[in-house]
Amino acid sequence: MSQAQHSPLSRRAFLRTTTCTAAAAGIGAIVQRARGATTTQPARPLLPHGVLGRTKFPVTLVSFGAIKLRDHDHTRVLKLAIDKGVNLLHTSDSYGGGKSIAAVANLFKADKTYRDKVFLCLKGLTRQKEAELDKMLATLGTDHVDSWLCELQTPDAGRLETVQALLDAMKKKGKVRHPGFVCHVDMNGSIEMVVEKAPTFFDVALIAMTMAPVPGDRDKDRTGPQSERFVKNLKALREKGVGILSMKSGAAKAVQKGSEVYLPHAKAILQAGADSILTSMDAFEQVEMIAQLDIKSPHLTEKDRQAAIDFKQQRAGACLMCGECTGACPLGLPVADLMRFRMYTQEYGLADQARLEYTALGPGVHNAIANCGLCEVCSGVCPVGLASSATVRETAAMLA
Ligand code: SF4
Ligand code: SF4
Repeated sequence: MSQAQHSPLSRRAFLRTTTCTAAAAGIGAIVQRARGATTTQPARPLLPHGVLGRTKFPVTLVSFGAIKLRDHDHTRVLKLAIDKGVNLLHTSDSYGGGKSIAAVANLFKADKTYRDKVFLCLKGLTRQKEAELDKMLATLGTDHVDSWLCELQTPDAGRLETVQALLDAMKKKGKVRHPGFVCHVDMNGSIEMVVEKAPTFFDVALIAMTMAPVPGDRDKDRTGPQSERFVKNLKALREKGVGILSMKSGAAKAVQKGSEVYLPHAKAILQAGADSILTSMDAFEQVEMIAQLDIKSPHLTEKDRQAAIDFKQQRAGACLMCGECTGACPLGLPVADLMRFRMYTQEYGLADQARLEYTALGPGVHNAIANCGLCEVCSGVCPVGLASSATVRETAAMLA
């Protein structure tokens, strides 16, 4: 497949919807203001940006994932990122047991103008409830969130109806501007359900991009069928006007390695269909690197392509969030969740987050894990050879 066929963004379309930084890169900025956007308008983007689907928000191509924020120094990292021009921020009351959202709140409370400089996305740990949203808004000192990302982990039509009713109600009350969804378990199944049953409902989707291919990668690995289905689904979602935020692509690891790794990775993720790459940052040098990134074109040179492929291969065992193991375990164990907690610990260095989410699974699951070990049904279905009795037990032992 040619690069042009692979990419939902032609080079011309990409250039039309992006600008390059004036302040950081010294290149004259072409300013785009969203027309008819119903959300808070930040100052015009200083960094390269596109458009976040039907929200029409001029989102920077790299956005700020706040899962690693824990303290006052991290608040300063976030401030620097916003000062440099990053204009979308994602956090949750569940990150770091509330430390992430507190670090964000410290900035918003110190200078209220920072709230209006970002498109704010929130999600919760529990199945979303109004009280949980109210608590986050109160912590942040704001009366609304730009997008509330509600969990659609599997293609569950009943859950979809519940989420739609809740988001409709929150929109009517003015607490939520744009309905959003997030999935960590069965990406393909959940996207297919949204495209079929609620094609115009959601404005924003937070999508795990582990299955996104690198254009021109001829290595037909075990993720091939899931990856092809994912590309098709993402394209369908984009065609419905849903703004795509990328997560779990490996950006958190890539940003630590510097621009030689981050830039090719980012281009590959943008070519796969993301509007913005949510990147977990916790250091000033990471922000400085992002601010100077020459990302005005998503075109991958041969060198970029090889670097993106090499990086993808380093993460060959990462959970795809493909959903193949969903419902497969005879003990009912949430294997994909456990593998995600493993990733938080081993790739993100977020053992505290992993432990919090593991604890939230409850004693029923914890006790059932003690009986895991005989069947290996999960390892039989996992396309990347990650799920197994060994990794399930090891993860549980690590987080208990
Ligand atoms: S090996 Fe363990 S986690 Fe995997 S399917 Fe069997 S019981 Fe479930
Ligand atoms: S553990 Fe394996 S089968 Fe399960 S979601 Fe992750 S990649 Fe897919």
